[in-house]
Amino acid sequence: MASITLKNVEKWFGQAQVIKGVDLEIEEGEFVIFVGPSGCGKSTLLRMIAGLEETSRGQILVGDRDATAEPPNKRGLAMVFQSYALYPHMSVRDNVGFPLKSAGLPKEEVAEKVAEAARVLKLDDYLDRRPKDLSGGQRQRVAIGRSIVRDPTAFLFDEPLSNLDAALRVEMRYEIAKLHQTLKATMIYVTHDQVEAMTLADRIVVLEFGKIAQVGTPRELYEKPANLFVAQFIGSPR
Ligand code: ADP
Ligand code: MG
Repeated sequence: MASITLKNVEKWFGQAQVIKGVDLEIEEGEFVIFVGPSGCGKSTLLRMIAGLEETSRGQILVGDRDATAEPPNKRGLAMVFQSYALYPHMSVRDNVGFPLKSAGLPKEEVAEKVAEAARVLKLDDYLDRRPKDLSGGQRQRVAIGRSIVRDPTAFLFDEPLSNLDAALRVEMRYEIAKLHQTLKATMIYVTHDQVEAMTLADRIVVLEFGKIAQVGTPRELYEKPANLFVAQFIGSPR
């Protein structure tokens, strides 16, 4: 696992500046959540870290390595998408092993890696099932399994639970918390849901119009909000 450092990071789309001088150090194994209202730049910042969006100015370090100009596949980070993007016609085993098989790894090695991921994610009993025969939580674990086999140094999530109903969201929140405990992985997680942020994060980054309004533990933000914007955002349920 690796730390991730943002140094005075900026993003422009044409004339519009959507990320403004963001400085942030994310520690190895930390669970950091980006929150803020729609359009404040959460996804853009996450996509810049993933390498899916070019960084206009500033630096992104993965561990000690300057990754600012690296393509996504060289960064060693795993982006977990909200739609899971599982192949419906493939078993869990084949879904999890797919990235390694496509990369041309020998069968035995693929099988070994899949078995290891299944053990970590408690998917052993589901390896022969199709995605449609899994719960939402299990599907999310399969999607994560597909990232784990590539030994990422960090996981990036963009609103992974936003399309789920309330009950499933609670279940998944618990699953993700457990996963973080098991993997002890660096995780960066975007949400506009205060409850998710307060319950999952080691630290919360509150974004306001592309700038960091405040960074702190859930408790720090709740007890000592830096300004009214943070107070309103953290304090009041939607
Ligand atoms: P959030 O995820 O917090 O809702 P986004 O990062 O998606 O916000 O968007 C931040 C701002 O950048 C918004 O004003 C959005 O319209 C703008 N934006 C995002 N992607 C693009 C793009 N590809 N081209 C131009 N503007 C964009
Ligand atoms: Mg977004």
